[in-house]
Amino acid sequence: MGNRNRMRVVLAFGGFDPTGGAGVLMDSRAAAAAGVHACAVVSCLTVQTTASFSRFASVPRDVLDESLAAAEKSFRLRAVKVGMVGTRAAAEAILSFVAAHRDLPLVVDPVLRSSSGAPLLSPSALPAYRLLLRRASVLTPNLSEAEKLLDRRIDTFADAAEAARELSDLTGASVVLKGGHFPWRGRRGTDIVFSGGRTTLLPAIGARRGDPHGTGCALAAAIAARIGAGDAVVPAVQAAKSLLSKLVAGAFPSAEGRPTLFP
Ligand code: PLP
Repeated sequence: MGNRNRMRVVLAFGGFDPTGGAGVLMDSRAAAAAGVHACAVVSCLTVQTTASFSRFASVPRDVLDESLAAAEKSFRLRAVKVGMVGTRAAAEAILSFVAAHRDLPLVVDPVLRSSSGAPLLSPSALPAYRLLLRRASVLTPNLSEAEKLLDRRIDTFADAAEAARELSDLTGASVVLKGGHFPWRGRRGTDIVFSGGRTTLLPAIGARRGDPHGTGCALAAAIAARIGAGDAVVPAVQAAKSLLSKLVAGAFPSAEGRPTLFP
């Protein structure tokens, strides 16, 4: 019983990427690097290589509900991280779980498409997914996800900072707009955090080495882990960025040539 309370555990709800580069396998490694255990409920199965995405397959709703209940029974959860949701059943299952646990910090990484362009969220999942975004404590979009969520283009770095504030106003969440894909001179890798009414800029740490598969998953998982360990949003993002820079420095090329994170 004592251990159940002392152990820091976050729940990762996301897709199963069999390469281990993204999804819940990566979440678990990133959380461990941040000093926190991650248990995982698989929202959907994916078929993919390190460089291309084929398809995803659903997990039945009753299996999702029972798995979420089992995670809750096993641990005193400190936070939940939601990555790829995929199906309507998964969106509805995680929404009803977090609605029943209002005090649990919720980090949502709004995974909408793979970097190769494949849709990772079914249109039928959108109504529940929108409610999930409104329940989030922290959202971690990249540039194209922020554009999709706001349904507008983001053309400058100043506009990106404004977009982070807008997303926060719309959802009530703190927003970490990830800078890994920023095209603006000197700004690549600078994350924009809007939290508690304030904007904080967190410049890139270390050299950029390609675009390793799963970097976004890992950053959001490490943020959730640090929030679960008691950090406030900005220190959690700072700690996650510094962990990620170590993972990225150790990335190795897969057989297809795509850099893959290697803790
Ligand atoms: N597969 C899963 C399960 C994911 O969660 C993600 C992204 O979050 C991806 C694939 C896409 O990864 P990428 O396009 O960065 O390779």
